[in-house]
Amino acid sequence: MHRLRRLRRTPALRESLAETRLRPEQLVQGHFVVEGTGVDAPLDAMPGVSRQSVDRLVETVRADLDLGVRAVLLFGVYEHKDDHASAATKRGNCVAHAVEELRKACGEDLTIVTDVCLCGATDHGHCGVLRHGYVQNDESLPLLAEMALSHARAGADVVAPSDMMDGRVAAIRARLDEVGFANTAILAYSSKFASAFYGPFREAADSAPKSGDRRSYQLDFRNAREALRESLVDEEEGADMLMVKPAMSYLDVIAAVRESTLLPLAAYNVSGEYSMVKAAAARGWVDEARIVPEILGSMARAGADWILTYHAREALGEGWIA
Ligand SMILES: [Zn+2]
Repeated sequence: MHRLRRLRRTPALRESLAETRLRPEQLVQGHFVVEGTGVDAPLDAMPGVSRQSVDRLVETVRADLDLGVRAVLLFGVYEHKDDHASAATKRGNCVAHAVEELRKACGEDLTIVTDVCLCGATDHGHCGVLRHGYVQNDESLPLLAEMALSHARAGADVVAPSDMMDGRVAAIRARLDEVGFANTAILAYSSKFASAFYGPFREAADSAPKSGDRRSYQLDFRNAREALRESLVDEEEGADMLMVKPAMSYLDVIAAVRESTLLPLAAYNVSGEYSMVKAAAARGWVDEARIVPEILGSMARAGADWILTYHAREALGEGWIA
């Protein structure tokens, strides 16, 4: 008889034979940055996550760094909104300011990734320039490139376009290189699906579209082949890393992208995935200490190198992942 249970008998055997391991260095904590000072506004739909002004964000990130959270992803929440997202693209925007202050406070110990998308600063809430009810692809590219450049100038290690316009990676790469930021890396949200799992995030980033939805630019959840095409196109355009978003319901896509490229791959454990765990754990229906490593570990097993997650602080602080 085949007896596979022999090697599962003791914790020592199981530990020594674990096929995948999730390391603290793989986790990237998401943050929402607002203008002003002294702001720390907890989000109802995302327990444990706040919108913070730069001064408070620096305190949080420094404390997290002591827990082992070595990378952050920054989203801007903008008060001023207009049709061309000027608050997000202008020099010295709140995300650029956050990058500068975090760099001063944490040096190169911290990897700083910035989200690049217009939706937080457009009055219509779409990820690009809107005209006649349709998001204009090519008109949006220079704005995205300027936004990425503002983050690069401030010292971001990685800029991460999440808009899903065609050609954005090439446009950003060209603009960064032109101005002397050849060393700023691009993490492309290459396989970003139109998803109901983003619900809580839209409250956090105040970025819900006022009309229509994002299905004319984000991927259809039924399409894995098309997701691969998106990934390969972004690679060709010069992306340094690729991403699959959301993660939990898209592990097949993560595995397929992993098989199809040599680039490092990120998985985005999004707000809805996070909040579902938080809600169930608060009722005692699931054991958070066990379910979080299982969820994040499944993403690593599927092939993700980085995992962007709002669980990072707690997972490391509580020793769920060591
Ligand atoms: Zn967007």
